[in-house]
Amino acid sequence: MLDAESTPLQYLSHSLLSEKEVELAVLRLDKVHQEVSGNKYFKLKYNLAEAKKLGEKTILTFGGAFSNHIYATASAAHTAGFHSIGIIRGEDADRGNSTLAHAQKKGMQLHFADRESYRMKNSAGFREKLRAQFGDFYLIPEGGTNEIAITGTKEILDEAHAIFSHVCLSIGTGGTFAGLAASLRSHQCLIGFSSLKGDFIFREIEELLTKYHIQSPGNLEIRTEYHFGGYGKTKPELINFMRWFYSEFGIPLDPIYTGKMAFGVWDLVEKDHFPKGSTILLIHTGGLQGNAGFFEQTGIDLPTL
Ligand SMILES: *Cc1c(COP(=O)(O)O)cnc(C)c1O
Repeated sequence: MLDAESTPLQYLSHSLLSEKEVELAVLRLDKVHQEVSGNKYFKLKYNLAEAKKLGEKTILTFGGAFSNHIYATASAAHTAGFHSIGIIRGEDADRGNSTLAHAQKKGMQLHFADRESYRMKNSAGFREKLRAQFGDFYLIPEGGTNEIAITGTKEILDEAHAIFSHVCLSIGTGGTFAGLAASLRSHQCLIGFSSLKGDFIFREIEELLTKYHIQSPGNLEIRTEYHFGGYGKTKPELINFMRWFYSEFGIPLDPIYTGKMAFGVWDLVEKDHFPKGSTILLIHTGGLQGNAGFFEQTGIDLPTL
């Protein structure tokens, strides 16, 4: 239903990497699909197939005003021939921003929920209200993580990636981390970089793995020290790193997820976290659509595709 393009593997060349005797490569999931970029492609593809199987005509989901998930779901639903509804957090959300403008262009019907109701979005009462208002729909949760999404994220790694000793990625809800954990090899270590502030993420990932019966054959590690103030927050140090990374390797990053992850990996290389001979795979989970909205909000112009 959604056809994948290519996900090139790009090796990085830099004196620090030779000095530390490690190899670094980036898996460019940001290129997997023109509009359904990154990990969202993998999370959505089987959900849309399931919706079709069930005979649903409408996809309904939730997200913030700058959400990569909203952007990707609107595009994916449009491509696959579904009507889509986006419940957006905050009645005061910036309705004209580039993410929501795109979603509307793809036919997504937007509804702005006040923060109080939005917090209750997983309650039976709120669901019932949505059914009364919109009729039948196939529901995809905020961030797109459910069991079917994880079936998709299990496909990110394949035999070609067995050569790597470490796999690094950004964590939001952890749905992508869970899929990668399931498809890890016993000699591999998966390192997740939390984009949110706080240690709650350890328990949340634990619960996710238990809920979906995932026992990783490899080693799992979560880093919580690269949040730069919390979800959606940035610091000049991060912005400078992202600009440097682009000028050095030609790879654009986003400030919410991939920038923080790449910063963390580079920092860990400098601090000798990776043994000599390590081969490290960075998963570029996409999110570059958000750079336009980031510019609208902050005036900071970041490289993009
Ligand atoms: C959504 C998103 C993530 C987080 O994925 P989870 O499966 O929720 O952990 C990471 N990177 C980018 C670019 C994203 O858009």
